Amino acid sequence: MNNLILNPEIIIPSAQQDPLYNHYILITDGKIEKISSNLNPGIYPGHKLIPLPSSLVIPGLVNTHSHIAMTVLRGIAEDLPLESWLNENIFPREKKLTSEIIYWGSMLGCWEMISSGITCFSDMYLFEDAVAQATVKSGLKALLGEGLFDFPSPNYGNLAQGFKYTQYLLEKYSDHQLINISVDPHTLYTCSLNTVIKAKNMADKYNAMLSIHISETKNENELISSKYGKTPVQLMYDNQLLDDRLLAAHCVWISDREIELLAQTETKVSHCPVSNLKLGSGIAPLSKLLKNQVTVSLGTDGPASNNRLDILQDMKFAAILEKGIHLDPQYPNARTIFKIATENGALCTGFPKSGMIKQGYDADLTVLDISQPNALPLYDPFNYLIYAASVKDVTHTIVNGNILMDNRKIQHLDIDEITAKIKEISKIIS
Ligand SMILES: [Zn+2]
Repeated sequence: MNNLILNPEIIIPSAQQDPLYNHYILITDGKIEKISSNLNPGIYPGHKLIPLPSSLVIPGLVNTHSHIAMTVLRGIAEDLPLESWLNENIFPREKKLTSEIIYWGSMLGCWEMISSGITCFSDMYLFEDAVAQATVKSGLKALLGEGLFDFPSPNYGNLAQGFKYTQYLLEKYSDHQLINISVDPHTLYTCSLNTVIKAKNMADKYNAMLSIHISETKNENELISSKYGKTPVQLMYDNQLLDDRLLAAHCVWISDREIELLAQTETKVSHCPVSNLKLGSGIAPLSKLLKNQVTVSLGTDGPASNNRLDILQDMKFAAILEKGIHLDPQYPNARTIFKIATENGALCTGFPKSGMIKQGYDADLTVLDISQPNALPLYDPFNYLIYAASVKDVTHTIVNGNILMDNRKIQHLDIDEITAKIKEISKIIS
């Protein structure tokens, strides 16, 4: 039964609209049927009325780049450069991963994201079918892709098997209500150009997204430039790999010319400010990307390099980093950051009927408690959300009208079981 009537104090329908006060949201069969100040709940006996005094309802937050099962590696190696962090600490431990470990790591990630008001995420990792199963159980939406590398994977073995596994996922989850599948060559330095082209052909065949890390570090750019005589974005462009179904994570080290190429091809970008800062990778040119009309969204990246699956935190970092770098407090403003975390996130994960509170859209919603001290006084809900809100304020997370967290209580996951499993797994991983 996904029939609800929400009656919050404030609604932010989208970045383009002003907040609505004391309105109702009528949700029927998981979709937003009506937003009105003048609604009589009594005439909808099949709908559950949820009064939400002192609450703000926003479109669900979207995390467009992550490796959520890396929750099991959170905190295991810190304060290292990306290459040694990956090659000496993460990759060797990833050899120990199994489908079961990924399942429980994903359950922990889903629990954390639901608690953080995230309704949809994108994931590139290993044993992605196990991630999908955890996601479906949690009730979240996701764009999922098996990470493809030229070297063997603990899941599928050699690369040819990786493509078969991706095809299996594409077919298994075609037309799934919660799951979209992408084709995910990991990077241009762990995959040959030929592998990326093959992945693109598979994505085209299934009309799926292609997801890849691009220009995350200066080293990556130097490596690709010395191998191909071109920087990663230029190389992708010259091989017809940029288009509106590409989700490019990071894009830290990109030139003005490459920003134009991303804009011209309508390539989508996942900006991961906290991870990029923590790994010392740099700061992506967010303002230039936005001013060139590139569809930018926000990603936490994996919990081993963030270390939280908390988009509210990345929203604040995205906003204040730009102001600090450019010595300009005016851009990006709170509404711009709100848009990239909601509407743009939905576009980047292939759920175009999400990301706004609008008639006919999916009821993917986040509810925040605005009675907390950090919310008071509340002159402008956008300003509160970007600069003052905390995951502790999130009370409800709703996907397709299905309440995944109800008044801070997780609904579909056994959090004691997840906690016990993660403690067992940490002994194997360490
Ligand atoms: Zn990543």
